[in-house]
Amino acid sequence: MDSEELSPATRVVSLGRVPREPGEQVGAPLTFTSTYHADGPVTYARVGNPTWAAFEDALGSLEGGEALVFASGMAAVAAALTLVPHGGRIVVPTAAYNGTLVTLADRAEAGEVEVTHVDVTDTESVISALDGAAMLWIESPTNPLLDVADVEALAAAARERHVCVVVDNTFATPLLQQPLTLGADVVVHSATKYLSGHSDLLLGATVTAATDEGRALHERIRRHRQLHGAIAGPMETWLALRGLRTLSVRLERACANAAVLATRLAGHSGVDRVRYPGFGAMVSIDVAGDAEAAERVAAATRLWVHSTSLGGVESQIERRRRQPGEPEVVPESLLRLSVGIEDAEDLWRDLDAALGAI
Ligand SMILES: *Cc1c(COP(=O)(O)O)cnc(C)c1O
Repeated sequence: MDSEELSPATRVVSLGRVPREPGEQVGAPLTFTSTYHADGPVTYARVGNPTWAAFEDALGSLEGGEALVFASGMAAVAAALTLVPHGGRIVVPTAAYNGTLVTLADRAEAGEVEVTHVDVTDTESVISALDGAAMLWIESPTNPLLDVADVEALAAAARERHVCVVVDNTFATPLLQQPLTLGADVVVHSATKYLSGHSDLLLGATVTAATDEGRALHERIRRHRQLHGAIAGPMETWLALRGLRTLSVRLERACANAAVLATRLAGHSGVDRVRYPGFGAMVSIDVAGDAEAAERVAAATRLWVHSTSLGGVESQIERRRRQPGEPEVVPESLLRLSVGIEDAEDLWRDLDAALGAI
């Protein structure tokens, strides 16, 4: 069957496998090699690996473009940022993944780039910041405030001004949002999170459109990967593809759980504000109390895992401001909840009891 006709829930299971030949293995190959017999299409493993290709086929199809796998989400972020020329200006959300913000702050301090911070929910003000910019960097929903940007309107305005648009799609995943179809030039992922889904590896990816323009960006990013050499391990890539197979069912359950919890948390006396965009499995809450109160809640959970990171099958909770580099617009009492696939009632009972620790 033509894979483009199949739903994403089917493609995520079926893509990136070896051809159906009698006696062939069913799953993707896990290839450990540094080199290949001469005169083939790929001669050295810093350039290509069949396990990477399998993961890239599957993710590329889900995003509607061509993927490149990286050793971590930050490696993919760093690769995408190489598209900005020296001295170029990058427009970025005020609150976004702190690794991205800290990288940009360091590079701005070194005089390599200029950075303009914007409120991504204010479409007009983002557009007015685009004139003369080299890149618009979007997260939507943002980490950890879960603000939603009008990606399509922003991408259209950026295109008119020849500004390259990158969307970090880690929180939404390609099953909930496909930025390339909304007009973005590059998608980046921390595959550490939902795509692999089991909190057992780090991996990242970029995806670019299957157009001439997209392929030119793909080639620049691929060349960066090859020459900078911080490449993904085949084992991690294979595990991520194994995890990706269940993305659709994991996300379905996690999103349903998040919707239930967001509603109940909104009526809880221990919660001042619930931040939930109405989709996805991330929910942030402003605890009715100070930083210490929020820390007590996180520490009091028994089922929720008190840890950084997100997107695993297990529910995770963290006060984000304990992380250095987290922007000040993030309230001290904000707890970020990555809702997992456990039973919703069990998650609620644990959270409700922990909120009693305020
Ligand atoms: C975690 C994360 C990253 C960085 O990914 P790593 O795999 O930890 O390097 C980038 N963007 C977002 C939105 C993230 O949550």
